[in-house]
Amino acid sequence: MVHTIDALTLVFYPMGGHISGMCLKGSGDVLIAINSSMTDGRQRFSLAHELYHHFYDDMTTTICPRDINVTADVEKDANVFASFFLAPPAALSEKIKEIRTKRKILDLAGVIELEQHFKMSRGAMLFRLLDEGELSQDEASSMRSRIIYHALALGYDDALYRPLQKEKAMITYGRYIRQVEELLRLDLISNGRFEELLLEAFRPDIVYGLNEGNEGDELID
Ligand SMILES: [Zn+2]
Repeated sequence: MVHTIDALTLVFYPMGGHISGMCLKGSGDVLIAINSSMTDGRQRFSLAHELYHHFYDDMTTTICPRDINVTADVEKDANVFASFFLAPPAALSEKIKEIRTKRKILDLAGVIELEQHFKMSRGAMLFRLLDEGELSQDEASSMRSRIIYHALALGYDDALYRPLQKEKAMITYGRYIRQVEELLRLDLISNGRFEELLLEAFRPDIVYGLNEGNEGDELID
């Protein structure tokens, strides 16, 4: 769905340990970049966070820290927005009620159930549950380690807690790709330049047709 926001180019790129993402706005264009070395759950949160900068923040350039527990007002607002975007308040409180009925308390297994349901990272889920007063600081602190182990031990897949697969660590979606295709279609660039522009945007899959395989391989269902 984010891919269809007309002005938006979305880039996934490994950015090291301190940055979660960035939002750069030009005239009618916006570039959102997400640090793809973070976990899948955290990247979803980062993307929702950057959408706040796109839609509700006047700054033209924002580089966002990895630490969720920031004090800067706009960063905090963007985190709260992201949290509500991924787990709408009514849906979250209903799910918490269900877990408290079933398990009596909101323990680690309950938190894992919540983060799996809303596809959020542990950090993002604890941030929200602390904000809602559902957990104490001590309870939250005790849930910050051995995250993958506990999820696997409860029978969950660990995909949420790892970065996306390697071939998606660097990739561009959205407006940029549409514009390059349009330039070729209008004969404004050569085929060679078209391929160059796509390769610069980490899309060898389009240039070399890496996803196509045999016609019969494409899954219709
Ligand atoms: Zn930010």
